[in-house]
Amino acid sequence: MTKTTAAAPLPFLDLAAQYRSIRAEIDEAIAAVISETAFIGGPYLGRFEKEFAAYCGSAEAVGVSNGTDALRLALLACGVGPGDEVLTVPNTFIATAEAVTMVGARVRFIDIDPDTNTMDSKLLEAGCTDRTKAIIPVHLYGKSADLDAIGAFAKRRGLKVIGDAAQAHGAVYKGRPISTLADATCFSFYPGKNLGAYGDAGAVVTDDPAVAKSVRMLRDHGRTTKYEHDMEGFNCRMDGLQAAILSVKLRHLKNWTQRRQTLAALYTQALSGVSDLILPSDFADNRSVFHLYVVHTAKRKELQAHLQSRGIGCGIHYPIPLHLQRAYAYLKLGAGSFPHAERQCAMALSLPLYPEMTEEQVRYVAGEVAVCLSRESSPRAGQ
Ligand SMILES: *Cc1c(COP(=O)(O)O)cnc(C)c1O
Repeated sequence: MTKTTAAAPLPFLDLAAQYRSIRAEIDEAIAAVISETAFIGGPYLGRFEKEFAAYCGSAEAVGVSNGTDALRLALLACGVGPGDEVLTVPNTFIATAEAVTMVGARVRFIDIDPDTNTMDSKLLEAGCTDRTKAIIPVHLYGKSADLDAIGAFAKRRGLKVIGDAAQAHGAVYKGRPISTLADATCFSFYPGKNLGAYGDAGAVVTDDPAVAKSVRMLRDHGRTTKYEHDMEGFNCRMDGLQAAILSVKLRHLKNWTQRRQTLAALYTQALSGVSDLILPSDFADNRSVFHLYVVHTAKRKELQAHLQSRGIGCGIHYPIPLHLQRAYAYLKLGAGSFPHAERQCAMALSLPLYPEMTEEQVRYVAGEVAVCLSRESSPRAGQ
């Protein structure tokens, strides 16, 4: 009987387990940066940018301070500014929309396709105005948005496409890496993301040399040389320690992603047939890299309480759609404005998923989900 390990508290995420698995490589990389005092810019940043661009199948990656700044600088580099409107979805982290406001533009939400939980490209036409300048599809939970349809619409209308890939490192859509299907694609290396730094970091990936050049200038005070500035920019640099750590972790990312996909498939197999439960869709030509394994249920509250009582950590991404947050009250969009996004936010529950989890742990979580929902749906529940 070895049930004890699986029944021990299972955190939603275990970054320490990952560190233990690569400790020697990480410690060596950190020591090298410090002994060379390569703290800002420098060889480790340049090396990581080359490696990450190659990983993404794109011409250039520009390392920046975090994923939010990646979005902000990409918008600026694509010429988005005051008076412009940008289309995105309400079921995302606030950073997607904040970046739009930060450049002086206005966010316009459109609803999602309930089958994929990403932007419904059929709603782009109705969401567009004379002021629309760009679209930010969010590759939610690790699965690409419908980039064919979004790209075709953008091309017809002369709009820029800036992907929010903060959750989708390595995602491929119809055989092509997502960053090759947009004007710019923005990544976050927040510690909990699929490729996570040991602090804040992000990147803009693009095939457009003008966009890359502009982001490089904007992130570093508009500099062309140490003492020459062609414009005002920002301090949005990635530091050398983060770059060196990311280079180490990038070597493992393919394996980690495969492991996430294997464990996700195991969840899906173990949970199929459980009542009141919608499992994540996954398509052969648009496979998720499973930043999150998110189930949907009308009994979320009960399920979350049950899992918590068993010591299983879970999360909600995201409980309140952005148009219903106080921060966006000025848009005057009430409940019912985006029914699919609202329903999704009301039902989503993220189960623990990280490469270091064991298959036994996945089966344990799935078993507890099944126990809870079959009890909840039984007519004798509550007796
Ligand atoms: C994490 C995240 C961001 C922001 O990235 P930071 O590095 O935390 O600034 C933006 N969009 C989405 C969808 C995210 O998940």
